[in-house]
Amino acid sequence: MLSTMMNVPLTTAAILRHGERVNATARVRTLGPDGSVRSGTFADVGRRSAQLAHALLAIGVRGDERVATLMWNNQEHVEAYCAVPSMGAVLHTLNPRLTPEQLIYIARHADDQVVLVDGTLSPLLAAILPHLERVHTVVVTGGVDLTPLQRDGVNVVGYEDFLQGHPERFDWPEIDELSAAAMCYTSGTTGNPKGVAYSHRSTYLHSMAACAADGLSVTGDDAILAIVPMFHANAWGLVYAALMAGADLVMPDRFLQAEPLVKLIARERPTIAGAVPTIWSDVLHHLQAHPGQDISSLKLVACGGSAVPVHLMRAFQENHGVTIVQAWGMTETSPLAAIARPPASVSESEHWALRATQGRPVAGVEVRLVDDAGRELPHDGESVGEIQVRGPWITGSYVGDEDPEKFDDGWLRTGDVGRIDERSFITLTDRAKDVIKSGGEWISSVELELLLAGHPDVLEATVIGVPDEKWQERPLAVVVLRDGATVDPRQLRDFLDGKVAKWWLPERWSFVREVPKTSVGKFDKKVLRSQHSAGALL
Ligand code: ADP
Repeated sequence: MLSTMMNVPLTTAAILRHGERVNATARVRTLGPDGSVRSGTFADVGRRSAQLAHALLAIGVRGDERVATLMWNNQEHVEAYCAVPSMGAVLHTLNPRLTPEQLIYIARHADDQVVLVDGTLSPLLAAILPHLERVHTVVVTGGVDLTPLQRDGVNVVGYEDFLQGHPERFDWPEIDELSAAAMCYTSGTTGNPKGVAYSHRSTYLHSMAACAADGLSVTGDDAILAIVPMFHANAWGLVYAALMAGADLVMPDRFLQAEPLVKLIARERPTIAGAVPTIWSDVLHHLQAHPGQDISSLKLVACGGSAVPVHLMRAFQENHGVTIVQAWGMTETSPLAAIARPPASVSESEHWALRATQGRPVAGVEVRLVDDAGRELPHDGESVGEIQVRGPWITGSYVGDEDPEKFDDGWLRTGDVGRIDERSFITLTDRAKDVIKSGGEWISSVELELLLAGHPDVLEATVIGVPDEKWQERPLAVVVLRDGATVDPRQLRDFLDGKVAKWWLPERWSFVREVPKTSVGKFDKKVLRSQHSAGALL
């Protein structure tokens, strides 16, 4: 028997329509270079998105052409998030922190034909544009000089001129909810980057999961500070969640350093924020060095992308009354897959132990644990295996790339290794490619890193496996000390002693000024491993 329910497609146009009508007075507030904040209502965003869609239609975007963005977090980027998928085209967010070679590979692979570029990034685009033969139009925000981008066969136009004169309403077409709305590439820490195409349906459902009380609990009374870049995994769904819930969006543009962020928080008083742990660690150090700044408006800070040290969460809670909640996911999972919200009934110590986990799957995501031989392992909090996931906002393939290795009988192999307990809390011990195998046993680099990060003299710490004649691999700790700190390897080993098995204790230590980071702010272990094999570490 079929249901009697209407088959109304779940699309970004539906999210936009709701945002611009029901939440018309909510605002996007964008930080400018002089510290001022400009703002536009969701009704304005709706009108300007309609103009953008008409302008794109006028240059021939009529089907599912890829429209790329090379932009920071600001109102224009929100307009692209709304207009491009809602008109039936596919939004492709390019990451400006990638190398020109990676960008060329990705833009060609995605078949980008139009690029919306932030004026500050036009030199980067100018450098790669000669290699992007399919791009016929470049639209530049920020009122900058367009001449560096001029080339034969490419129409270069300023964003405001592009919108000018077009109608402020667009009859958004009815789109198959399973068709692609947006594309994002994994950063390719091994091999070439792989493309993930989010559908309208997956985007809609993921946004609802983000809004849910046990998700990021977004309401119309909130203002969301989206620090996570809009080119990183769909900005963790924060943009569409804000449109759905009627929360304001506070956008830091390209000003992602601790000082402007703290000023922005004090001034705009966001209630929810999202960023990777390295950003919050910088913010904490900044607050320690410049006391008296008020970030107390934040009631929930979503943090993920790499493991979140407990001492970071505790310091925010105890010194600033700000709750950091750890979430886990990846580009392939839209990204929200799990969130660490312990039940209210647990004791204080258990509460913090659970806050340190990667969390429980959000409704809509199923998780299983699988060993090397492909057998399912129990969720007993002890068995260690690969985490596999499935659900309506988990990718089931890659764009133009079968890669059967990444899938197992309808499940995505995340490449993350860890445990799942009886209550479904996931603890990651490593990414499969970062696991340290010593004497046939595994050492968790993540656990060592989290413990080291808790030492008062340590600013940053990461641990990689390096070849060892006797044990096959041993951990090498790469540490950045705070200014003026003099702690030595023996003292750091003593600090770890008793907290982990004796044979885990690293005997190799390297003190550096900075740990190399990936384009999305994670410790870049690939670079560290090659520095080590080139003899640059130790
Ligand atoms: P990249 O593959 O370039 O790091 P993603 O942002 O897609 O890009 O990264 C996803 C990976 O980040 C996950 O597979 C996992 O290894 C790691 N990750 C995400 N959230 C967490 C978390 N809370 N704790 C530990 N690792 C995390």
